[in-house]
Amino acid sequence: MSHPSRYDHHIGGQQVPPSSGEYFTSTNPATGQALYEAARGNATDVDRAVNAARDAFEDPRWRDLSQTKRGHLLRRLGDLIGEHADELAEMETLDNGKLLREMRGQMAGLPEYYYYYAGLADKIQGDVIPTSDRRVLNYTTREPLGVVGAITPWNSPLTLTTSKLAPALCAGNTVVIKPSEYTSATVLRLAELIEEAGFPPGAVNVVTGFGAEAGQALVDHRTLAKISFTGSTVTGAKIAASAASRFIGSTLELGGKSPNIVFDDANIPNAAMGVVAGIFAAAGQTCIAGSRVFVQRGVYDELLDRVAARARSIKIGDPMLVDTELGPLAFADQRDKVAGYVDLGVKEGATVLTGGKATDGGLGGFFYEPTVLTDVDNSMRVVREEIFGPVAAIMPFETEDEVAQLANDTEYGLAAGIWTTNLSRAHRLAARLEAGTIWINTYRAMSPMSPRQGFKNSGVGIEHGQASIREYTRLKSVWVNTSEEPVADPFVLRS
Ligand code: NDP
Repeated sequence: MSHPSRYDHHIGGQQVPPSSGEYFTSTNPATGQALYEAARGNATDVDRAVNAARDAFEDPRWRDLSQTKRGHLLRRLGDLIGEHADELAEMETLDNGKLLREMRGQMAGLPEYYYYYAGLADKIQGDVIPTSDRRVLNYTTREPLGVVGAITPWNSPLTLTTSKLAPALCAGNTVVIKPSEYTSATVLRLAELIEEAGFPPGAVNVVTGFGAEAGQALVDHRTLAKISFTGSTVTGAKIAASAASRFIGSTLELGGKSPNIVFDDANIPNAAMGVVAGIFAAAGQTCIAGSRVFVQRGVYDELLDRVAARARSIKIGDPMLVDTELGPLAFADQRDKVAGYVDLGVKEGATVLTGGKATDGGLGGFFYEPTVLTDVDNSMRVVREEIFGPVAAIMPFETEDEVAQLANDTEYGLAAGIWTTNLSRAHRLAARLEAGTIWINTYRAMSPMSPRQGFKNSGVGIEHGQASIREYTRLKSVWVNTSEEPVADPFVLRS
């Protein structure tokens, strides 16, 4: 599998060159070599894409399509993604460095998201409201919003795009996507599959480019009815402010610093694997990374030994090879950011139990060793701030009450893990933790059927599950006078 040397925008069903004539280079992070060029989008390109999406929204081929037929299109798209899963997985691995075997798994599961929303498409409905006046029929409808802007990061480009695209299309909206500048290719390939599935031209448009240019222009576009964003909390705050100033909605899936909590009574081999998977999978480049590990004192040494031993044995290398366990970080600045945080942690008093070094993986790429930090606490930046790399901060605790407070002492609230065999404690703590997703004796489980939402600075709004449809529709209330009675004079007092 190889990429074409150059990608244009995808607007109105066409490949459209950038209005500026400029392209930027995307790099293979495993080798540091240039991979392809992509169109550098600006406000003019975004304007074209939003107008194409608006035209498509009003086009009878889309506007008048029955909800069931929208579902058929989503199902067909899911089928096509399944047929092209290996191709898409290889493209993503070359682009962002995640393990091919992980991306193959993600791509094989991706059709399920489209099938789920295909099934939901003709279940979007309103209610009949029993008002106190029986002469009046009052009913509600759920309408699509219009043109939705979707902005996504680089760590799982197609999956994170799908979390926005599938419900937005299911509800009858049209979409303009601005993928991360580091991973444009698979979203552009998805746009081709969307056309092939039979969606009308302009239903989905992709403008590539930089966040401050194309991304900002999309967020600020006056025609946009909604912005759906996944990325950092800092960028999310800017986007939320822009959306709020125009009174349009925003769904924001942001950063995390999730606690993974291990009690004395846990199955320790399982918990150790849960901790390893929580932080070292995808080289720690996941929003749900279990980067703060709290271990009850009685099993602290044993758990630390197990996690450190597995971290040392993790096979770093070419993400395209099936036996590689840890690929590179997605780009050089991200590797440097991770290295900077570990150095900072050491200055703050942390001990590097294992890892702690950048490496080129023998390939010239942007790798960083799986790293375990001890002698850390909640006051340190390395424990408070999102690193987005393979760095676990492991801390002991004594009591359930103490760990609940420590776990909640963070600006984030995306996810949390609890490892225990005490059922009462598991549920008690699940209720007390301030996070949108809680895993008990597992970590990273996810499904299109299950809603997820960040608490606190980890986001606003819901992705996945039936509740996600509300994010992409608006409720209309319709009143009908069903009586034959004359309409009363408004200036005569009613009895
Ligand atoms: P960023 O916030 O830097 O970027 C995300 C996207 O926003 C990119 O497409 C970026 O473009 C674009 N962007 C940047 N600035 C602007 C702007 N001013 N206006 C509009 N768009 C802009 O995040 P990262 O790409 O670094 O992704 C990592 C972050 O994503 C982490 O914080 C992680 O936790 C979070 N994340 C959250 C998830 C969740 O579900 N809660 C899931 C996965 C990741 P460009 O690439 O050109 O900068």
